[in-house]
Formats: sequence, structure tokens, C-alpha cells
Amino acid sequence: MYWEKDIETLGRDGLNKMTLTKLNQMLSTAIKSPYYQKKLKDFDIPNQPIKSLKDFQRLPFTEKQDLRDHFPDGLLCCSKEEIIRMHSSSGTTGNPTVVYHTKKDIETWANLMARSLYMAGVRRRDVFQNIMGYGLFTGGLGFHYGVEKLGAMIIPIGTGNSKRQLWFMKEFQTSVLHILPNYALRLHMVLKEEKIKLEDLNLRIACIGSEPHTEETRRKIEELYKIKAYNSYGLSEMNGPGVAFECTYQSGMHVWEDAFYPEIIDPQTGEVLPDGEWGELVFTTLQREAMPILRYRTKDLTRIIPGACPCGRHHRRIDRIKGRSDDMLIINGVNIFPMQIEQKLMQFEEVGSNYIIEIRNENYLEKIHIKVEIKPEYFGGTLTQLESLKGRIIESLKAEITVSPVVQFVEPGTLPDFAGKAQRVFDLRNKE
Ligand code: AMP
Ligand code: ZN
Repeated sequence: MYWEKDIETLGRDGLNKMTLTKLNQMLSTAIKSPYYQKKLKDFDIPNQPIKSLKDFQRLPFTEKQDLRDHFPDGLLCCSKEEIIRMHSSSGTTGNPTVVYHTKKDIETWANLMARSLYMAGVRRRDVFQNIMGYGLFTGGLGFHYGVEKLGAMIIPIGTGNSKRQLWFMKEFQTSVLHILPNYALRLHMVLKEEKIKLEDLNLRIACIGSEPHTEETRRKIEELYKIKAYNSYGLSEMNGPGVAFECTYQSGMHVWEDAFYPEIIDPQTGEVLPDGEWGELVFTTLQREAMPILRYRTKDLTRIIPGACPCGRHHRRIDRIKGRSDDMLIINGVNIFPMQIEQKLMQFEEVGSNYIIEIRNENYLEKIHIKVEIKPEYFGGTLTQLESLKGRIIESLKAEITVSPVVQFVEPGTLPDFAGKAQRVFDLRNKE
């Protein structure tokens, strides 16, 4: 059941004790970097070890902008010789963020990935098709090394070319996929067009993540492929994937607390919130050699799920990411998260695999326009049937987001494809 039984089943007291020890170790490493040396000047560290987690909460946060401002190696704590890899997130403007890894950092990351995959039921006999971008993006290589460490066979296919993906799946009898949720939905359309039968494939598990998606989308993917889909969460500042992962109970994602210390804060005040309350997720690395990061604000909104998981792991679970504090839309004063819209759309059997949200100004009012693909079999109905469906969708959306959107149906395959993570929202206010 477990990849590393001792650490995975360690009790709460053991985990808390370990966290405190590791936080102190991290502080004494972090202070070697020019950035933290300056930032922690006022905190009497490391001469005075912190004695409680409460003490730790006095430390300042680190933000993405700090990484940009200290480009390229202001947070580096080791000599350059020790670095064996870097990853970088694309910055459209200004400096990108860079994260460095030593050999040990890469080994730790691969092990966390192997542990996550084993927890989701992946075994050595599996054939693993990694449909993720290889390169600077951490999703591809992060899983790649984890699968190899676990000992399953990896197909390092990368993204794109749906027909070729399906051909590999069939010929090599792929049993596990790593795939973006938006692409899993679109790939199924190609599978149907190509008249490929699920019986000719051998799929049993998909690891889905890297982008926000709803429980409804997960269920849809599970039904379409007749598989189990597990949520995988990570961010490049904390390595990438392998930060938090679902176990087979699918009741939240276990954060590997021997490697990352999670906190939930009120995004406005920065105050730490108790388990169970929704807020912004903050992480501190607990094992990094090259580049420890303290109290990193992820901007991701979630909560820590109180209580124990039946799987026997005490590593705390985070809830599905509701959105990012910076992707909240304010429409005529009403706060709306794109995931609220997806959740409602995906409850409709007729809704296909793609949708986009546009925000527009109309007669001095802000209006939400939703373009949604409808499955081909439902285009055959009468106009009245389509109008009635549209009415039901609008009604259900209005009940959720309190404003009435304009809904437009489009044929499958007509909305733009996403090369990677889906871009759902187009804010056209004051741009048209
Ligand atoms: P990057 O650092 O470019 O890999 O992006 C990391 C971000 O992707 C996170 O901060 C989240 O906003 C998003 N993300 C990753 N995994 C998930 C997931 N399972 N659910 C929702 N959002 C995710
Ligand atoms: Zn569990």
C-alpha cells in the first residue's frame, strides 16, 4: 500500500515535531542566500532557533515578484557547481522565475513523485504515457523521473498530435496517463472520431492536474475513459508536481509534509487560518538544498481538510483548488471564480469538452459571455430543444454566480485549442 510506510504513516505528533526541526534547518540554509540574508536580518536567525510553529508565523512571506526581482540567483544557497538542473517559468514581461536543484534535490523530487504515483495505485507493471510538456515546464520531467524511480515503463511522448497519442496508447497498451484535464476531454473527441474502442485500450488510471478543474470534470473524464482520475498538484517554485496528490479515496490531496510545510492564510491580512477554513495556500520547502523558499504565497485558494484519511496517511490534505486569488473576476461588483462556471457547465450531459468565458462592456454594464461546445449528438435536436437546454444552463449558472450570463452554443472543435494549460477567461472590458 505504501511506497515508504514509516514516513507515510507517521502520526500527527511525529509530523509536527519533524516540521519544527526541518524548519530550523531550512532557516539556517536559507540565510546563506543574499536574498534571505537581507530579508531575515531583523529576525535573530539562525542564532535563535524557532521553538514553535507560531514563532515561524512571524517570518515574512516570499512572493513571485521577489524571485523575479532577485533574478537569476539571489535565492541560491549553494555553490553553482552543485547545481545539476534549473527550471524556469515563462515570464511574458520582465524576468522569469528560476528554480535551481542539486543532485539531492532532484532525487528527493523523484522520490516524492514515485511515492505519489504509488499511492494512486501505479505499479511497476504499468505503462505510463506522459502527455506533458518536457522542458522548462516542470510537469513533464517531474513525472518522468518519478515513473522511472517507481520502475514502470514510461513513454516520454510529450504533448500534441492526438492521433499519434492514441496510436501509442493502443500499440503499447498504455495503462496510466499523465494529462491535462482540458486535453483529456478533447482527446476523447478524437478517440470517438477515430472510432477507437475503449476495449482495445488498456487504460486504468489518469493523473490529472497542473490546472484548475472541477470535480464534475474529473467525473466526466472517469466516465469517458472508464478509469480512475487522480488530482495532482504542484508549482514550479516548490519543484513542480509531487507537492500534493490524491490517494485512492479521492478525498483531497495529501501534502507531503516531510518536504513542504503548508499554511492557509487570509489573502488580505496575511493571518494564518485554522484547518478547515478557505484561504490562500502558503508553502515552505523543508528539504531543499539549492534554493529553500520560506512562506511562499502560491495565490491558490483552498483549505486544509480536517480529520484523518481512511488510507492511514496523516499528511494533511488540501481541498481541490477553487481558483487563484488573482483570477477572481469582479463583474458589476459581484465576485466570481471561473471554476464556479465550469462546475455548473460540466453538470450537463450535453456539454462537450471545451468552453471559454468572455467579459465585455455592454451599455455601460459588464456582461459575461460563455461560448460552450455541445456534443455533436445534441445538435441534431430541434431548435426548441436547444433553446430549452440553453435556458436550463443559464438558470443553473445564475443560481451559482447570481448574474445572468449570455450563453452561446458552438459545435465541437470550433473553440481554440490550448497548447498547454487552458486559458478560459478573456477579459475584453475596455478593449473592444
Ligand atoms: P507552474 O508553476 O507553472 O507549474 O504553475 C503552478 C500553478 O498551476 C499552481 O500554482 C496552480 O495555480 C496551478 N495548478 C497546478 N496543479 C493544479 C491542480 N491540480 N489544480 C488546480 N490548479 C493547479
Ligand atoms: Zn488518503
